[in-house]
Amino acid sequence: MRITRPIGLSVLFMLTLGAFQIAAQQSASLARNAARDKYMVSATDVAGIREVIPDKYQKRYDEWKSEFLSTDIGKAQWEMYAHHPRLVLTITIISSNSEGAGSGKYKWNENGELVAATISLGSRLDQGFPTSVYYPVMNALEPFESAKLISGNTLAAAKLAHEFGHIMKISSTRQDLYSLQVQLVPIYNKIFLSNGHNVADPRLVEIAQKIGGNPVEIWEDREYWGEANAMLFLRDRVEKEKFHCRLFAKIKRAVEEYAKNYEERFAEIAKEQGAIYTCGWR
Ligand SMILES: [Zn+2]
Repeated sequence: MRITRPIGLSVLFMLTLGAFQIAAQQSASLARNAARDKYMVSATDVAGIREVIPDKYQKRYDEWKSEFLSTDIGKAQWEMYAHHPRLVLTITIISSNSEGAGSGKYKWNENGELVAATISLGSRLDQGFPTSVYYPVMNALEPFESAKLISGNTLAAAKLAHEFGHIMKISSTRQDLYSLQVQLVPIYNKIFLSNGHNVADPRLVEIAQKIGGNPVEIWEDREYWGEANAMLFLRDRVEKEKFHCRLFAKIKRAVEEYAKNYEERFAEIAKEQGAIYTCGWR
């Protein structure tokens, strides 16, 4: 079933409201629990990747990670963060949101550089395909997984790549802009829900100008950066597979239908030097 834009919009406002509230709560609780929060970055934390994996999930995590590292791009991105001069990137597994994943707990230093971030992977990351409307890349894997052309580990590694895409994007986002978004998005959504969903409201126009778009646009843009990185991983991963172009054509159809404004970033990856076929992408 196709989700129509207006319905999607209201749902998304609720969704972004929730996401930003969580971000704000996380910041507040991090500040409160600074002394006892084991994920808090302290002066003794060495930059690089910290894997905080409960024993019961270690085996599956190792499989997902080696799948990600089986590609040149996965290896290069992992190395970049493993030897990062400043950033402590924590990767952990949580049982809530079991088929999903998320990135957050961002911290910046006094120079405005990102110094901490956490990727939380669901404990059943190798299952579940998110909607093609916002996840055109991960969703496209579904028929290939059903046909056993790829395994659940490839799906999990694509989700990990999606999160790496978020980390790369947030690294180039100014801290003051991000903080302003966390602060103003709930206010935007509150007005939106009380003014008859009128995005032309001057108060909303003003907030959107300050924070680089309305909450849905900001959220969409972030998710499509995640998806672009998942596509980069898959390009390497399926490069020599017979179904390579079928997968890319499926991604292309979803991008054209739902993410037309963001097509360029996906087309770039399909056409980039090194790809054997562009599979119809121009
Ligand atoms: Zn995402």
